[in-house]
Amino acid sequence: MTRARGADLDVVVVGAGPNGLAAAVTLARAGLRVRVYERADQAGGGAATRELTLPGFRHDVCSAVHPLAFESRFFREFGLRERVEFAVPELSFAHPLDGGRAGLAYLDLDRTCEGLGRDGRAYDRLMRPLVDHAAEVADFTGSSLIRIPRDPATAVSFGLRALEQGTQAWEVRFREEVAPALLTGVAAHTILSQPSIAAAGAGLALGAYAHARGWPIPVGGSQAIVDAMVADLRAHGGELELDHPILSLGQLPRARVTILDVTPRALLRMAGEALPRRYAHALGRFRYGGAVAKVDFALSAPVPWTNTDVRQAGTIHVGGTRAEVADAENEVNRGRLPERPYVLVSQPSTFDASRAPAGQHTLWTYTHVPAGSTADRAEAVIGQIERFAPGFRDTILATSSRNAVDVEHHNPNYPGGDIAAGAPTLWQMVRRPVLSTDPWRTPLPGVYLASASVPPGPGVHGLAGWHAALSALRHEFGTRALPDLSPVD
Ligand SMILES: Cc1cc2nc3c(=O)[nH]c(=O)nc-3n(C[C@H](O)[C@H](O)[C@H](O)COP(=O)(O)OP(=O)(O)OC[C@H]3O[C@@H](n4cnc5c(N)ncnc54)[C@H](O)[C@@H]3O)c2cc1C
Repeated sequence: MTRARGADLDVVVVGAGPNGLAAAVTLARAGLRVRVYERADQAGGGAATRELTLPGFRHDVCSAVHPLAFESRFFREFGLRERVEFAVPELSFAHPLDGGRAGLAYLDLDRTCEGLGRDGRAYDRLMRPLVDHAAEVADFTGSSLIRIPRDPATAVSFGLRALEQGTQAWEVRFREEVAPALLTGVAAHTILSQPSIAAAGAGLALGAYAHARGWPIPVGGSQAIVDAMVADLRAHGGELELDHPILSLGQLPRARVTILDVTPRALLRMAGEALPRRYAHALGRFRYGGAVAKVDFALSAPVPWTNTDVRQAGTIHVGGTRAEVADAENEVNRGRLPERPYVLVSQPSTFDASRAPAGQHTLWTYTHVPAGSTADRAEAVIGQIERFAPGFRDTILATSSRNAVDVEHHNPNYPGGDIAAGAPTLWQMVRRPVLSTDPWRTPLPGVYLASASVPPGPGVHGLAGWHAALSALRHEFGTRALPDLSPVD
């Protein structure tokens, strides 16, 4: 590989989110001279950890739970599990219902099915083939969808299940309320209308990982993942410049490769007239979706969930039955604030004592809202948690509440508060943001897009950055060799 000479850089990366850093690490490990520019005063993007409420309470500003940490090909190559300590709750996620009932999704599928009464066997038949082939599901969903999957049988089985759970056929196999609620609780992560095929697909994949390898929580917070990537980058000669927003491509120093961990909207602004019209048109048509309002709590005690099993869950989906969650999500998709919203909750300090002073707790929550909403949703979130954990309000020491506009203000990769950096509809998961087997490569020479707005979409997995880096190595340096990313002593 021919490197740049003298003081020139080989690679500049804009954005130190998980994807920007994955690209930077991969290219630095290929022996290239890499510099990352990050607008914020801290690396991490959607994987940063800070004291948001009171001293000693460490909150994940965005992502908290990492279903993809063990499934992502990039993180496996990187040896993330050897570099970062993870707590893996036995109870991956729970879904409380009125009357003290709850769906409990364990790392163990048999145990999960035992708790689902008459629907246990139906849930087993739905999930077992995906759980047994979780690695193949991750492979299939971890890249551009416009390619022949390595295991077509799993892809077909996955597709048929998404078709069933993503349409009005979603009730046919179940007789009770708990199993359907459990499934819709995960599918609702997408902020899409319910039922919908893309939501069901995401839900089934995340559900399969929950039963196969769990939903890990990094000890010390999501920042631990980012710190491991930054340390590797620096150990291999890479540089990171914080507080350095890039407003136009012309502002960047000369380099063979430019990797952009930004949205299509930002690329349009940064490239100005330089983009070919057709490509610029495709970027302009890319749609951003529903948003989140984030509410973090410092607590004097654990949440007093009525169903005591729920107290041991890493993640809790709050919102009631399948119909109630679907109604709430459909309201958001109609541009309205639901009265009884769906709330995603994580209780990291149950598994990681470093998050709060002894005996006290942090609670991470967010709820879905229409894009650009300025509503403060703290009371709505507290109300829904109180419904399944009476007395919760009395444990609150401090609250940090950010509306959807604040979420975008914190990070422009979330337009209007859209944490998926582009609605993850079926069409936009195929055309993200263009129809291509190599969607990371832009028509601008040496310029690659590497954010969650390109495949495989949202989540902390580093895969968009990894794919972009591999594409750049192929096209700009003529090598198909995968750089060794494993930890070095
Ligand atoms: C509230 C919330 C909760 C979430 N929960 C989870 C979760 O539990 N699990 C999960 O897997 N995922 C979760 N996500 C999604 C996940 O955080 C993102 O999908 C992921 O971080 C995307 O990584 P990225 O590198 O593409 O972008 P980001 O992480 O958004 O990073 C982009 C980086 O680029 C920087 N940047 C942008 N523009 C410029 C510029 N012009 N110049 C310089 N720097 C720039 C930004 O400041 C940022 O640091 C959540 C997201 C949010 C917001």
